Amino acid sequence: MSESIFDHLRSRFHLPEDRVYLDGNSLGALPTTTPAALANTVEQQWGSDLIASWNSHNWIELPLTVGDEIAHIIGAEKDTVVCCDNLSINLYKALLAALELNPSRRVVCVEDQQFPSDNYIAAGIARLLGEDRCAIRALSISDMTSDNLNDAAVLILSHVDYKTGSLRDMQKITEAAHQAGSLVIWDLAHSAGVIDIDLVTTDVDFAVGCTYKFLNGGPGAPGYLYVQKRHQSVANPISGWMGHAAMFDFESGYRPADGIRRFLTGTQSVLALSAVRSGLSVFENVPISLLRQRSLTLTGDFIRQLDARSFSVSVDLLTPRSDAKRGSQVSIALNDAFSISQALIDSGVIVDFRAPNIIRFGFSPLYNTETDTTKALEALETIIDTRRFEAPEYQVRATVT
Ligand SMILES: *Cc1c(COP(=O)(O)O)cnc(C)c1O
Repeated sequence: MSESIFDHLRSRFHLPEDRVYLDGNSLGALPTTTPAALANTVEQQWGSDLIASWNSHNWIELPLTVGDEIAHIIGAEKDTVVCCDNLSINLYKALLAALELNPSRRVVCVEDQQFPSDNYIAAGIARLLGEDRCAIRALSISDMTSDNLNDAAVLILSHVDYKTGSLRDMQKITEAAHQAGSLVIWDLAHSAGVIDIDLVTTDVDFAVGCTYKFLNGGPGAPGYLYVQKRHQSVANPISGWMGHAAMFDFESGYRPADGIRRFLTGTQSVLALSAVRSGLSVFENVPISLLRQRSLTLTGDFIRQLDARSFSVSVDLLTPRSDAKRGSQVSIALNDAFSISQALIDSGVIVDFRAPNIIRFGFSPLYNTETDTTKALEALETIIDTRRFEAPEYQVRATVT
């Protein structure tokens, strides 16, 4: 029964037959409905209906309507999510908003090893505001207790770590932060669509994410921002006309819109949002808890099969074995990781490399299968046993890895 659900879901993606795609944590695969959705927006809406489409096809509301569809996937209420800009810019907005909501404190806690862009954004804000209004403190996950957060204004944390694939206890850490008087911004980049998240029950303050990973919105698709209802009267620090209370009155002064709309800034990319919407349609009527189960089956099976192969003695598993602590990828550290990743890609197994020595195998519960695991591990074993990765063509690093 459930097997046929997953066959059906897989059939909703274009997946080249000669490839094993294990990089949906970085760029989700192309949903079969997306080319036609984009063609429709381009040819019918833009081509025929031209500028009237802002009203007649409701282009103007897209960041909110798509935001509501994302809300459904991340356990948020209607009118609490906007789909716009990218994760980094949304984090910039959320962090300044959080500092404004907690004005007697200046400490921003971050995880020392988290995705660098998040910490670059925090550092940029610290530089802008000066030390007496914003000071960054790097902590390790185990130090994120209420005792260590009792002077924090806000904590920024990834729900699933991009390098190791470890899943953090959102409920426990959010509670500890709140108990200490700190707000929390969760980065959902690697968890939305694969982990059941409940932002409402967990009482999360802000969350940010991207739509081009497990949500399959397409390369460079916009990010999103969740602002919980009780914080929605705070200012958007990037106050632009799309967040104005009456954008087409062209008033000389800024007056923020009520509700989540105020977190918009400038004009949205309608084409990109059409693709996002098409990607999200795959999730309709699919409980996230079912995807979570499937994801754990796939990654758990990968780890078991890895353990059983002789080359596993030369590999460090970075991803937790415990289901409760694992996201939807398996990361291994090993010697020659870069050239091995290149040889894998050349043999049709698409993975990615993260410096200095990590290979990530990302599993999308929507389209990956047990066969992908077997093929990937067979290819990896052959490459290591024959030392094929030593070939000169696998030593050259391109801009994007
Ligand atoms: C992918 C990713 C980002 C990307 O941010 P963009 O602004 O969309 O480029 C940010 N944070 C984390 C944790 C990520 O994994």
